[in-house]
Amino acid sequence: MSTLPKGFRGDMPNGFNPASVESLDSKTREHIERRSRLLGPAYRLFYAQPLRIARGAGVYLYDDAGDEYLDAYNNVVSVGHAHPRVTAAISRQLDTLCTHTRYMQDGILRYAEKLLATFEGEIGAGHTMFTCTGSEANDLAMRIARHHTGNEGVIVTSEAYHGNSGVTSSFSPSLGKRSALGPMVRTVPPPDSYRIVPEHIGRWMADNVAQQIEDIKRHGGGLAAFIVDSLFSSDGLYSHPVDVLKPVAEVVRSAGGLFIADEVQCGFGRSGTHMWGHRRHGVDPDIVTLGKPMGNGYPVAGVVVRSDVVASFGRDMRYFNTFGGNSVAIAAAEATLNVIQDEGLMANATRVGKIILDGLTSIAAKYEQIGDVRGTGLYFGVELVKDRKTKASDIDTGLAIVNRLRQRRVLISATGADANVLKIRPPLVFTEADADRLLTEIEASFASL
Ligand code: PMP
Repeated sequence: MSTLPKGFRGDMPNGFNPASVESLDSKTREHIERRSRLLGPAYRLFYAQPLRIARGAGVYLYDDAGDEYLDAYNNVVSVGHAHPRVTAAISRQLDTLCTHTRYMQDGILRYAEKLLATFEGEIGAGHTMFTCTGSEANDLAMRIARHHTGNEGVIVTSEAYHGNSGVTSSFSPSLGKRSALGPMVRTVPPPDSYRIVPEHIGRWMADNVAQQIEDIKRHGGGLAAFIVDSLFSSDGLYSHPVDVLKPVAEVVRSAGGLFIADEVQCGFGRSGTHMWGHRRHGVDPDIVTLGKPMGNGYPVAGVVVRSDVVASFGRDMRYFNTFGGNSVAIAAAEATLNVIQDEGLMANATRVGKIILDGLTSIAAKYEQIGDVRGTGLYFGVELVKDRKTKASDIDTGLAIVNRLRQRRVLISATGADANVLKIRPPLVFTEADADRLLTEIEASFASL
């Protein structure tokens, strides 16, 4: 089904196929060959014609020739590339002090207070611990969950991605069949709102989770945690309905497991209506993990945890992460949170997001290949199908649109088990004019097929 040649083990949506390097201009080819010589075979590039990026500002990226690209994909620099308040906070702090959590510093406490105040329920009265990456956050969360419950079992969605560490890759099925899942890791299908009647999804998903809990028990184990990205980013982006995860949380808790909300993708206002994705589902998680947009590009991530859940872990072991929560990371995180709040970026995501969602819906009415449009805030999935009746995935059209948009200097990507869902996830500072340009170029790309 895929356009990739046999034997290509890229298995990443929108990954560059190294076998096609010969078709590129000599400068690009030389760079790619040098890169694979120096960085080895495991890295992947985006796009059929990879991009060389030299600079970023706001919602734009610039290549080395100075050409401007509209960035409708980057959720790391979520308040915009090179936001002046964030870069000033980072350089000021780097100029003053950069050290770790074994010295008393006020910044980390001030930020922890601000961050915890954004959480509702018991977890808001809990604690926050800092890491450098989302993988480390999920790794730590799972160690805490396993220690607290005394169990090993983990349940994730079937295309979930939770990280690249030994622990997290063992519950990240989207890494592909050659990446082994842990012996006590089980998967459930995501809430595919395009194919399953919405009214039944919550019960259906809770039943699937219950079955997997039984399977873990049958193999002599118990459930430590169900961990989920509440926007199901790598599963194909399922933003609605929002009454899915509450029944799941009930099943998980009655089996003695914890509910871990992985907010690496959907946190920090991405959904527009809520600071944290799990609140869209009305869930009160036991542990929340944070990452990507937290420092607007500076590596800072973390765990928020109910105090009773982390009590035994804190008693039985110590936690230290040399760079996690360092003075500069905290300055970056604090400035980023301030910008989200002061610039009203959640309201902006809701307002501009609606324009995009409406625009995508009208484009879908004109092109048979678009089976479904989903999304919330500034996060959208556009599912491409060969036939609206059978709903069979159209992988080639998805990749063609992503690459045509790249040629038209608009950056998006693809997601889902078949990589047939356009993934559109612009920085939260996207304006109406940016939305217009995005929609115009998407429509032009479909028209050119
Ligand atoms: N969880 C989710 C939902 C993610 O999308 C990612 C990164 N794509 C991670 C965890 C891992 O984060 P990091 O790359 O910072 O380790």
